[in-house]
Amino acid sequence: MSSERDFNEIIMSLARKRGFIWGPSPEIYGGSSGFYDLGPLGKLLKNRLENQIRAAFVRANFWEVECPTVSPVEVWRASGHLEGFIDPVTQCTKCGQIYRADNLIAEKSPETNIAGKTPDELTETIKEIGLVCPSCMGNLGPVQAYNLMLQTRLGLDQEAYLRPETATSTYLLFKRFLTFFRDKLPVSVFQIGKAYRNEISPRQGMLRLREFTQTEGQIFLLEKDEIDWPQFNEIRDEKLPLVTSQAQQKGNYDPVQTKISEAVKKSFFQKPAYAWCVHLAYNIFRQMGFSDNKMRLRQHLPTERAHYAADAWDVEIHTESFGWVECCGVHDRGNYDLSRHQEFSKQNLSVKVDKKPVVPEVLEIAFGIERPLFCLIDNSFRPESKERDTDWLKFPAEVAPIQVAVFPLMGKPELTDPATEIFNQIIDAGFVAQYDVGGSIGKRYRRQDEVGTPFCITIDYTTIEDGTITVRDRDTMEQVRVHRDKLNDALKGLVRGRIEFNSLK
Ligand SMILES: [Zn+2]
Repeated sequence: MSSERDFNEIIMSLARKRGFIWGPSPEIYGGSSGFYDLGPLGKLLKNRLENQIRAAFVRANFWEVECPTVSPVEVWRASGHLEGFIDPVTQCTKCGQIYRADNLIAEKSPETNIAGKTPDELTETIKEIGLVCPSCMGNLGPVQAYNLMLQTRLGLDQEAYLRPETATSTYLLFKRFLTFFRDKLPVSVFQIGKAYRNEISPRQGMLRLREFTQTEGQIFLLEKDEIDWPQFNEIRDEKLPLVTSQAQQKGNYDPVQTKISEAVKKSFFQKPAYAWCVHLAYNIFRQMGFSDNKMRLRQHLPTERAHYAADAWDVEIHTESFGWVECCGVHDRGNYDLSRHQEFSKQNLSVKVDKKPVVPEVLEIAFGIERPLFCLIDNSFRPESKERDTDWLKFPAEVAPIQVAVFPLMGKPELTDPATEIFNQIIDAGFVAQYDVGGSIGKRYRRQDEVGTPFCITIDYTTIEDGTITVRDRDTMEQVRVHRDKLNDALKGLVRGRIEFNSLK
């Protein structure tokens, strides 16, 4: 327990010191919990993750859109968030401390099923199990519904809310999509953008944010497409690390590598299109640099599942800081959202199937980017060792905030001129590079190891003689000389993981 907390503190203090994550923000005014700033390296890392996410969605035939983050109250009444996006809270009648009632009950009495209970029912449950304030043992007050949306105002008096998810804003475009995609389903779109949740008292640093960047991919499709999904054939023989709800009920949380076709046959996944979405979500996390042994796919228990959801699976990442962390949900939203928006907007959001109007179904992949960002720093941390006099970050080369560092051996024009040329050549090739001329080469290697730069190149006097440059590998600390004409190709191969460092020798 204490070691987990310690590890999180190590990661957060490293993230602060090295310019990844600052906060809670605004720091100079004392900070509000649930808000963080990304420093220069955190922003670079996030950009790289977003690039990987975009590439994965585009390869899977999704189109990106961007919508406003504020919408009038009507939208949230229709989406169900005004009524249903709530946390049940209870206040201690003695010391005034406010708690999430569901969390408190789950801690004290894990076997109590509280999914879908109303505030009044939770008040009853608290009485039944004799729950009191954990800090002062005082009596807890009645449970109240607390809406998690951040309210704002348009003009003088129009009630509006900051979006708690990007999904709803995507659904509002459905009519436009139909025209754009020439009335053909399925339609696959995604959005990357800010969302807001007014958490009561967010703890766990980067894992619970009031403002975060969400990625949500949506597929609008017909029920028959969910079963007859041609792309399923491309992935049917692949394996996924599954933790089924059956296994969990037997107390087994170890992932079992399961063939996807087998998982559908055994009804772990109800629909081939949904299974394809789970595979895509898993693949997106692999593209972000997570290794297979740090990932599992966990099915929701019946008690966790929303009433409309036939299938519900999460991508979880293992961290040293918090153990398994839920990072992504794959949701079968049915036709709930489009039906509601059709009803409330009085616009036709159906398509014709056999001349009858049908409101399409929606499958969704949803995750915030800050969680994987934190998990990746956690997973990449390597402590100081005999070989290396500093702790360092082993980011996968493709997502490292800085991919290549360029050092002239010394700050003399005969070295800095070719070094600047080579630096520009690397930037033009699309890499994120940093030019550093300060201090000994050893110190400069050290600084790059600390922020996880996979490759450093040094321009020295031999470069002037024969055009070769020293390339140094972060992981092995080995060096090879590569001719500057071959440098871009070598770096491309290394960063994409297509060639081994040793092959350059
Ligand atoms: Zn109290």
